[in-house]
Amino acid sequence: MGKVATTSSARVSFKGAQRWAAGHPWIFRSDLVEPPSSPPGAVTVFDSRQKPLGIALWSPHSEISLRLLDTNPDATINADWWHDRIARAIQRRESLDAHANAFRLLHAEGDAVPSLVCDRYDRWLVVQLLSAGIEQYRADIVKALVALTDADGILARNDPPVRAREGLARETTLLVGDVPQEIEVHEHGIRYIAAPWTGQKTGAFLDQREARARIAKYAHGRALDCFSYHGSFALHLARAADHVTAIDSSRAALERAAQNADRNGLTNIECVEANAFDYLRDQQRARARFDTIVLDPPAFAKTRQALTSALRGYHEINLRAMKLLAPGGTLYTASCSYHLTKPLFLEMIERAAADSGRRLAFREFIGQALDHPEVLTIPETGYIKGAILEALD
Ligand code: SAH
Repeated sequence: MGKVATTSSARVSFKGAQRWAAGHPWIFRSDLVEPPSSPPGAVTVFDSRQKPLGIALWSPHSEISLRLLDTNPDATINADWWHDRIARAIQRRESLDAHANAFRLLHAEGDAVPSLVCDRYDRWLVVQLLSAGIEQYRADIVKALVALTDADGILARNDPPVRAREGLARETTLLVGDVPQEIEVHEHGIRYIAAPWTGQKTGAFLDQREARARIAKYAHGRALDCFSYHGSFALHLARAADHVTAIDSSRAALERAAQNADRNGLTNIECVEANAFDYLRDQQRARARFDTIVLDPPAFAKTRQALTSALRGYHEINLRAMKLLAPGGTLYTASCSYHLTKPLFLEMIERAAADSGRRLAFREFIGQALDHPEVLTIPETGYIKGAILEALD
């Protein structure tokens, strides 16, 4: 037995053991029969009959007490173990190099590295260590990442609110080398600036990368990018459309959108600071028409309780966008709310279509790209849903 296995252990209920058997890596506090007596780190987990089930990360303060690392109870969680696990995730992404220099290397539970996120931006990495257990392995993880990627610098964007629930400080810290304030990202022929220290998430929305390239294939005529952030969709649309209006409520984001347009030599993007709800309503009143529309809003449903009011918001923007579509026009509509499940998302679109009075064809469903693996037995690894619709007349 490995060193860790003899030093600390946990005993879990039948229900807890069942979760692992069903392919989900979390065991909640309520299913802990005997918590480990040790500080956060790796522990061996036993069922109620003392049968060893595997090794898990232990978080004493969290509702999610245990996160499965290895179903081999004799595994030793050391630098070599992290190196192997991280290497496998990185290998899966090799094909992405041809189209982009920024993508997710580690998607936490989706890559069997629970509570660990790592995004690559060119020669730099941005990591998020999101549990007390994973923090204990920071040095091993950083060592493996440096060895596997030869990165010039690694930044920890450990500022998400979940860290507080783990009893951890929320902070942004440099772990290795140097990481610039701005990094130029290449993505399917478009260039934009990511801001790893201060930007949303780890500096940009990498999770819509493939969707942006996909919608560009449909883009034509007069285009509208709502919730544009630093213009990510607008830049792709502008290569194919005559004119693009990029809407965002953040002036700072739009200033970067304008700079990104210049960087690509694109002169057909107009940035408008506005509330997208108001803008869509005003355009509808003015009987405007757009040939291509993108709706990529922030998560309206941050909690399950917020779902009902979130659904009203999604319905409203989708209904208005559908009404604004010119005949033959294309709408890309997305949601990144985890609580709005795929069935609810599709139902919302169908209802908006029915209310719009338009004949809309469902062209494509767009889920998560290969760098954000959505594991079927772990619903929490999935959150992005997108649909491409066409106005038939
Ligand atoms: N489409 C972007 C990501 C959008 S993130 C990309 O692919 O990179 C959501 C954006 O919506 C943020 O930039 C935020 O400033 C903006 N936003 C939030 N609420 C808004 C509102 N009511 N109207 C317009 N923009 C809004």
